[in-house]
Amino acid sequence: MDYDLFVIGAGSGGVRAARIASDLGAKVAIAEDLYLGGTCVNVGCVPKKLYVYASEFRNAFEDAQPFGWSNQSSSFDWRKLRDNKSNEIKRLNTIYQKLLEKSGAEIINGRAKLLDSNTIEVDSKLYKAEKILIATGGWPFVPDFPGSEYTITSNEAFDLEELPNRILVVGGGYIAVEFAGIFNGLGSKVTQIYRGSLFLRGFDKDIRNHLAREITKTGVDLRFETNIIKVEKHNDEYHAHLDDGTVLIVDSILCATGRKPNLQGLGLENVNVEIGHDEKLVIDEDFSTNEPSIFALGDVVTGPELTPIALAQGMHFARKQFGNLEAKLEYGFIPTAVFSQPPIGTVGFTEDEAEKEFEEFSVYKSSFRPMKNTISGRNQETFIKLIVEKKSDRVVGIHMVGPDAGEIIQGMAIALNAGATKSVFDETIGIHPTTAEEFVTMRTVWSES
Ligand code: FAD
Ligand code: NDP
Repeated sequence: MDYDLFVIGAGSGGVRAARIASDLGAKVAIAEDLYLGGTCVNVGCVPKKLYVYASEFRNAFEDAQPFGWSNQSSSFDWRKLRDNKSNEIKRLNTIYQKLLEKSGAEIINGRAKLLDSNTIEVDSKLYKAEKILIATGGWPFVPDFPGSEYTITSNEAFDLEELPNRILVVGGGYIAVEFAGIFNGLGSKVTQIYRGSLFLRGFDKDIRNHLAREITKTGVDLRFETNIIKVEKHNDEYHAHLDDGTVLIVDSILCATGRKPNLQGLGLENVNVEIGHDEKLVIDEDFSTNEPSIFALGDVVTGPELTPIALAQGMHFARKQFGNLEAKLEYGFIPTAVFSQPPIGTVGFTEDEAEKEFEEFSVYKSSFRPMKNTISGRNQETFIKLIVEKKSDRVVGIHMVGPDAGEIIQGMAIALNAGATKSVFDETIGIHPTTAEEFVTMRTVWSES
């Protein structure tokens, strides 16, 4: 064997697993065919958050005026943002390379293919490994309709030559609402369509309704029960035919219609690795596939497609295989944020889930104008919600739409996972004046089930 561990894919999960295994003394190689750091660093969390920051300045400039700042003329340079973003990513790529090299893992540039349960081929070179980890992540999925080849995905959206004047965003998941907010903030005219009656399936209903209202106020033309059926190209414009009979003329169409596991050309036909009904790899609690020498984790397996999940899995896998960790990975309540404008932060049960899970529970809700908007006059409301199981008094769901929701809910997630009761919330002294203090001052039950 050339290696103890051969990792395929240097994204969030793969890099973490390779580094920890190497630190624990294993001989490790990691193959990557596109970019070190994977989706999150190159075409995901990092550039997305930088663009969210960029797009929030428009409101900040407007809000500054009633606070006494004089009317500054402002203009936006897309290429400057794009190129600064690319430079930052190059810096991060180098950091990832150094971290891997420092740990002793060997980086192999190229697309890896499995030849059998212990053999990998990269650029016609063969490598033998005791254990193989598939951490190849996902890739955008675009539905098949006439003209779908004219659409872009999140992969391309970061590096457009020009900021589109008019853009159609198709989809109602994380990526669609985040990019609708980004392009709207940067000055594009944005239409977002979603095929169902309310976007962000799986999130708490109040959160989804509140966000829909707030997004509409920001100027995004948000349409539900609407899908795309055909695209025609007319010179530099695209005519998007929608299933309600309307035709939208836009400069760009972003399909944010989900992602599929990145398994193309991986050579799965040469090994006995099971693929599940969701097209993802089937693993046990030790990340092992049917093939005892082949493991998988991150976006390529069933579960939330989030960087902290891939990181936790990568760390756990390496410690279990090459250290002396025995326990299985416990996820607890997984917090998440959608960097929409305004953002969502959420952890624990939604009200619909609580309905199925608990005999009796209470709901606390509050909607209010954040203090900053009193003087700025911005017509935007924050919404927060707590779900409390009656029998145990435990807080089992915390949801928010409003500025800094991700930052606030990260702390709340610790309380939730620690089993905090509503009494603990009530006894906790607030920090005044903040939005977060509302979570410890809600005394009136909104509804009971
Ligand atoms: P990836 O990070 O996708 O890494 C897989 C790597 O494998 C890639 O570099 C790929 O090139 C490589 N690869 C694939 N096949 C091969 C092969 N055969 N040979 C060699 N290399 C191969 N998550 C969050 O938690 N917060 C966010 O804010 C967030 N924002 C996101 C925004 C966008 C636009 C997108 C698309 C995703 C976002 N995510 C976010 C999700 C997050 O990026 C993923 O959950 C995470 O990157 C998954 O890590 P991974 O290791 O499973 O795969
Ligand atoms: P999601 O699965 O979140 O959303 C996909 C959306 O596309 C859904 O609204 C879905 O509708 C819709 N859709 C699917 N197929 C079609 C179709 N054929 N026609 C029309 N609409 C369709 O995927 P995303 O691409 O937004 O993101 C992928 C994952 O990446 C996320 O689930 C998340 O885990 C991760 N991510 C995390 C972020 C964060 O942490 N902030 C940010 C970005 C991504 P329906 O609901 O009806 O099925």
